[in-house]
Amino acid sequence: MHKLLARQLAHQDIDGEDLSPQLQELLQAVDTAYQRAEYDHQLMEQSLENTSRELVIQNQRLQLELKSRKETELALRQSEERYFLAVEGSNVGIWDWDVTTGAVYYSPAVLKILGRTDYAGFDTTESWLKYVADGDRHGLRQAIKTHLLGKTSQLEFEYQIRRDNGELRWVVSRGLALRGESGRAYRIAGSIEDITDRKQAEDQIRFDAIHDVLTGLPNRVLLLDRIQHQIENIQRYPEARFAILFLDIDRFKLINDSFGHLTGDQLLVEISRRLKTCIKVSDTLARLGGDEFVILLEDITGESGAEQVAERLLSQLKQPFFLEGNEIFTSSSIGVVLNHDHHCKAEDLLRDADTAMYRAKTEGKGCYRLFDARMHEHAVTRLHLEAGLRRAFEANEFEIYYQPFFGLGQQKLCGFEALIRWQHPQKGVLLPSEFMGVAEEIGLLAEMDRWVLREACHQLQEWNSRFPQTEPLCMSVNISARLFDQHDLPEYLASLLAETGVDSSLLQLEITESCLALESNDRVVTQLLQLKSLGVQLYLDNFGTGYASLSYLHRLPFDGLKVDCSFIANIGISSSDKSFVKVIFDLAESLDLRLIAEGIETQEQLQDVRTLSSCYGQGFLFFRPMSKTSVGSFISDYQPGMFCEEAS
Ligand code: C2E
Ligand code: MG
Repeated sequence: MHKLLARQLAHQDIDGEDLSPQLQELLQAVDTAYQRAEYDHQLMEQSLENTSRELVIQNQRLQLELKSRKETELALRQSEERYFLAVEGSNVGIWDWDVTTGAVYYSPAVLKILGRTDYAGFDTTESWLKYVADGDRHGLRQAIKTHLLGKTSQLEFEYQIRRDNGELRWVVSRGLALRGESGRAYRIAGSIEDITDRKQAEDQIRFDAIHDVLTGLPNRVLLLDRIQHQIENIQRYPEARFAILFLDIDRFKLINDSFGHLTGDQLLVEISRRLKTCIKVSDTLARLGGDEFVILLEDITGESGAEQVAERLLSQLKQPFFLEGNEIFTSSSIGVVLNHDHHCKAEDLLRDADTAMYRAKTEGKGCYRLFDARMHEHAVTRLHLEAGLRRAFEANEFEIYYQPFFGLGQQKLCGFEALIRWQHPQKGVLLPSEFMGVAEEIGLLAEMDRWVLREACHQLQEWNSRFPQTEPLCMSVNISARLFDQHDLPEYLASLLAETGVDSSLLQLEITESCLALESNDRVVTQLLQLKSLGVQLYLDNFGTGYASLSYLHRLPFDGLKVDCSFIANIGISSSDKSFVKVIFDLAESLDLRLIAEGIETQEQLQDVRTLSSCYGQGFLFFRPMSKTSVGSFISDYQPGMFCEEAS
């Protein structure tokens, strides 16, 4: 209002000359005041505008700060939660020790580790140390002290605690000290973790590394360690004695094959239980794997002490086992070695015990043998033999010798028996008895038999085509039980006959009774029938020396029998042998089987055989086995009857 009036007065309605000077002055003052007021007003507005702009900025800044605080708070809460979850979830307890006041904060997880439910009186280092197992308390104190003194960069100590209920738990304490300027620790905080599960797993791994999984017995590693310990002990107490017994279950493979591996495993567990009953707690019973067990006898009274234990073990294992409704009989072979001065390595002792066990096996099984130095030499020779045999095929060191056999009536040459020889580069010609056993053990026998079959068939075909004027010759080939293991013998033979062109009726396969002793083995029987259907002849070799049931002669398609050398050797000496041979001859006749008498060495034996039967014969009297080059001239020169006194 005042403003409007002043304007009107100043510019429009009133002429200035009409106004009194006081009024003009007043108006002038009013105008000035008005202008100042307007100016002030503008200033004020300006200031207000500035202030409100400032406020907006402040407000924005505050908003930003608020947001950032919220974010920080959230991050803090998340971090705390994460920390809480990590600590709680991992079962790690936290402790915080004010070294100057002695007060300790323990998190709830620490109580949980101890199996405690409340904090009452639980706030010092001593309240924790009281739980530490007696044997570990000193160690823990030392570890803390060393760290407080700054000698370790971190505190870390594994030990056991004993809960109030007596249960022992493994824990690890970790911590770090805070130090003042002087370097003196004023606070130390860290964690306590229950590591019982990890410790148990570690213990299990350690246990498994030195024990056999199936029986829980010590394994080779632990056994060797204990033997070594005994060897060292002997050096301090030379009069002390200990022994190693190496035990192997006889024919365990047969048990596994017949009853299955599960029963085989159960049997091994039962065996280990029985063996334990025969020894002292201080002795060690270990399983080396498979069916091999070793016993370390400590503190024995010389050889006799070890022998007594061996006998006890043998008789224990002879008792039948009853597993899954089966009555299983076993026996074992044991090698015994006593500590001697020259044994300074556990492996050597074990090797010698193994050698003695091997001797027990080869000398009839079900017995024990004491080691002596010659056995070791023998074992070394055997190793060389093994290595040589493996190489012999590639080096073409095998050769076949052929021994003729004849019809004893006219002494007509009927054919040859193929007999393998090994042309050993150093030892000269080796007989089958010197290497076939080892060849079987190292799995070479089947390959050897196949090779002989192939060579002999080719040779037969060659001779029969070279000497067409003589009646076709037969070839007799020995085949071992191992050849039947491979299932494909009939197929192999069929392709061999096709390849060589040999008339199948001219091939005789000699099977020893031991092949048939595997009576439950239908596989052998099936293959024999298949072989027969190829047209080859089947002979039962070394007849009378094995254990095959006579019913086989009836059931299986045999064409003939070979009477073992041992009976022919005694035919003129022992009347019982002569009667026995007569029984065999009568049996063969009644079953319409051909007979070949092996090992005829003298005219008398020849006469004796001939009086019993008109059969075939083979022996040194006629000819020894000869190389293939000699056979050629032998066939062309041979005259029937040339070896018989009667005929000559
Ligand atoms: P076997 O099948 O009974 O062969 C006859 C053995 O008696 C041969 O011994 C032969 O040399 C020998 N012998 C022949 N006549 C007489 C004699 O008048 N007096 C004496 N004391 N012995 C005589 P060899 O060659 O040492 O063979 C021994 C055994 O080795 C054979 O007995 C046979 O079972 C086996 N064998 C030989 N060659 C092979 C082969 O290639 N494969 C297989 N699986 N076994 C073979
Ligand atoms: Mg034979």
